[in-house]
Amino acid sequence: MININSTPAGGGVAEMLQVLLPLTRGADIDARWLVIEGNPQFFAITKRIHHHLHGQPGDGKVLGGAEVTHYESVMRRNTDELSAFVIDGDIVILHDPQTAGMARFLSDVGIPVVWRCHVGIDGSNEWTEDAWAFLRSYLEPYVDAYVFTRSQYAPDWVPKDRLHVIRPSIDPLSPKNHDMSAENARAILSYVGIVDGPPAGPVPFLRADGTPGRVERFADIIQTGPPPPADAPLIVQVSRWDPLKDMAGVMHGFVEHVLDGTEAHLVLAGPVVTAVADDPEAAVVLNDTWQQWRALRHHQRSRVQLVCLPMSDVQENAVIVNALQRHAAVVSQKSLAEGFGLTVTEAMYKGKPVVASAVGGIGDQIVDGESGLLVQDPRNLAEYGATVNRILEDPLLAVRLGEGGRRRAIDAFLPDTSLGQWEELLVAVMTPGA
Ligand code: UDP
Repeated sequence: MININSTPAGGGVAEMLQVLLPLTRGADIDARWLVIEGNPQFFAITKRIHHHLHGQPGDGKVLGGAEVTHYESVMRRNTDELSAFVIDGDIVILHDPQTAGMARFLSDVGIPVVWRCHVGIDGSNEWTEDAWAFLRSYLEPYVDAYVFTRSQYAPDWVPKDRLHVIRPSIDPLSPKNHDMSAENARAILSYVGIVDGPPAGPVPFLRADGTPGRVERFADIIQTGPPPPADAPLIVQVSRWDPLKDMAGVMHGFVEHVLDGTEAHLVLAGPVVTAVADDPEAAVVLNDTWQQWRALRHHQRSRVQLVCLPMSDVQENAVIVNALQRHAAVVSQKSLAEGFGLTVTEAMYKGKPVVASAVGGIGDQIVDGESGLLVQDPRNLAEYGATVNRILEDPLLAVRLGEGGRRRAIDAFLPDTSLGQWEELLVAVMTPGA
């Protein structure tokens, strides 16, 4: 079973493959993970498709003949590489629009193809139609099974008998999620520079394979003055630097509606901008957020940090994210659109109160008022700020939401819930007509 996507690290798909691979291998299936090679023009096109599938204009351009030509040339190069790798009896799972153009070759040589789409919106608009018109001819004739996060994300032309709805899940034992004491979380955050603390050396952690690792790199941090004291309540959003994550909106919501009257600090953290291969917008979004940060007043700036986390060692990065989510007083995910939102699941699993937008897959995760709080209109900064304040002002509510979130994550979003669905899908694809 060969999974193919477009980045080895730094987003939800890479995170999920890290969960799926060991499980599949544990079920005695020889599972592999390949990453395609693209170039800046290719990833600009696929990022445009990504935005359009979320119903957003992105760069405002449509997908025309020039895009088709370039997309196909990159797909052809990757298919050439793949042809030396696949053999009879394999099954290939292609992830997202970045790999859709490889389905034809696989189908031609008799390899069953599953296409998993991690993004989408309920309903459609001119942008989703543009993206689906582009993707349809690469998929419809060749794909044996489709996997979507929500059935509403699938376009009408996907046959119902080939449509599988499987929600993502998180690995409770991975460095991203494994147990960590509050003391250890503080030591890690203090070492990398995000919270204040006594000078100390690199912090040990356990790698996924059980061998020892150490957090030894620092974070790149934009801040004014010293880092927040270790006991200051932290509002934390961990996301790729993507316009749909609205990091700048979180910052304005915080300084305008939360900062005065609390001791809270805000940490906006994402990967170093060169690290996510298929995300060409990261540097622009970080730079734009930084410009807006510079325009804040001094006392506001001193309560907001923009953090780029080291990515050279993905497990070290995961442990820092784990520490940040555990240390947070509130975990925020104020996305404008969201396929699923693994950061929400990760925070819920850690028993943290989450404030997140009622968009896409987030609404499937949080039961409002029980396992987190939903912001109905993510562009309404006053609503966002008031929702964060409810948690900061009410420690009992914070505990109740955290406990509810953890229960919900354990019940619905650990891998055991989706293993049976994967088995069903594989059987259907490998034994057609059975
Ligand atoms: N993430 C990470 N390091 C970072 C930023 C994000 O490991 O510096 C992870 C985050 O913990 C989560 C994933 O990237 O597991 C993001 O997945 P999500 O579904 O929230 O959003 P996506 O990036 O897929 O849009």
